[in-house]
Amino acid sequence: MASLRTLDDLGDVAGKRALVRVDLNVPMADGAVTDDTRFRATLPTVTELADRGAVVLLLAHFGRPKGERRPDMSLSMVTRAYEQVLGRPVRYVGECAGPLAADNVLAMQPGDVAILENTRFHAGEEKNDPQLARAMAELGDFYVNDAFSAAHRAHSSTEGLAHLLPAYAGRSMEAELKALETALGEPERPVAAVVGGAKVSTKLDVLRNLVAKVDHLIIGGGMANTFLAARGVDVGKSLCEHDLKDTALAILDAADRANCTVHLPYDVVVAKEFAANPPSLRTCNVHEVAADEMILDVGPAAVEALADALKTCRTLVWNGPLGAFETPPFDRATVALAQTAAALTQSGSLVSVAGGGDTVAALNHAGVADGFTFVSTAGGAFLEWMEGKELPGVEALKR
Ligand code: ADP
Ligand code: MG
Repeated sequence: MASLRTLDDLGDVAGKRALVRVDLNVPMADGAVTDDTRFRATLPTVTELADRGAVVLLLAHFGRPKGERRPDMSLSMVTRAYEQVLGRPVRYVGECAGPLAADNVLAMQPGDVAILENTRFHAGEEKNDPQLARAMAELGDFYVNDAFSAAHRAHSSTEGLAHLLPAYAGRSMEAELKALETALGEPERPVAAVVGGAKVSTKLDVLRNLVAKVDHLIIGGGMANTFLAARGVDVGKSLCEHDLKDTALAILDAADRANCTVHLPYDVVVAKEFAANPPSLRTCNVHEVAADEMILDVGPAAVEALADALKTCRTLVWNGPLGAFETPPFDRATVALAQTAAALTQSGSLVSVAGGGDTVAALNHAGVADGFTFVSTAGGAFLEWMEGKELPGVEALKR
């Protein structure tokens, strides 16, 4: 973090205009916000800047309007809901650049907060058009990026702007980067990674990066089937990418050379049909899966062994559920191992960081999200970070 400037490095900001990139891309149904997690993540930064007397101008995208003004993707729809969460008045400005925006901003007083219209209404946003960035920059005196979840994209409001104004990381960005640095930057060893989810193909770079960095790689979910099959195990009708056999073997080989212990399940929960509590449900050794069965979860004996492995570790990074957790009882391995990780975290022996859309849902389902050291809600950005990639929105803040 030493290389990043934060709000602590700002001097007197009273009366200054802060352009703050946030993530307001909340899910909605029937005109109502159904999950305000992203709103709440902005509160430390927005409240602090307003309290310090800055004019706070929020830049955000909403949906994928692809450069068109789309009323159904206007941030005016969420302004009232955001105001409720913030607990102070928020105005809506119908543009994020140009004269209309400038006029509105001029009328604002220190401590005022405004949401500027969807940055993606401009085709230049996703192209990182410097002209759009310059037009945005004219509205502010300094720039704060508090949207880690958008930091894997080099857009005008996430990257371009950082080069035009004094740039700072917001409080949520700061917390996210600190947590990620603790988990994979300079972690306490041994380090374990859990990688699960549906497919190997979506997480190849994650696996390749992790085998070089962690001491224990725990593979679960559908992707474990691909590794098992590559090793000659008959996985029946399981979700499995047979064409990735060589890739899977190369990853196992790389792990071997890096002294990374790979944990694949040796007992599994199988069924002939994918449904809740199916009659054909049974637990068996991985070598006993029948041709008409599917592996849908890691078995209880393997989970116990994984829990024992976690007990020897100091750091854990987790992406992807161990089984088809949305359908009972295939949530059991994920819930049990997540509970172990949370308990070890609470007792002080483990630093645990998790992320990924379905992973967050699974941890919430297990009731342990609060028990982890840090849970990232940034889906794509979290995965790119796990791949070891530099995030343009973060890099641009380093100067
Ligand atoms: P994340 O969003 O956290 O990165 P993924 O999208 O990679 O996670 O994977 C989540 C999905 O993987 C879930 O929908 C889950 O049902 C599915 N899954 C996990 N294990 C299996 C399995 N053995 N067979 C089929 N699907 C599985
Ligand atoms: Mg997913």
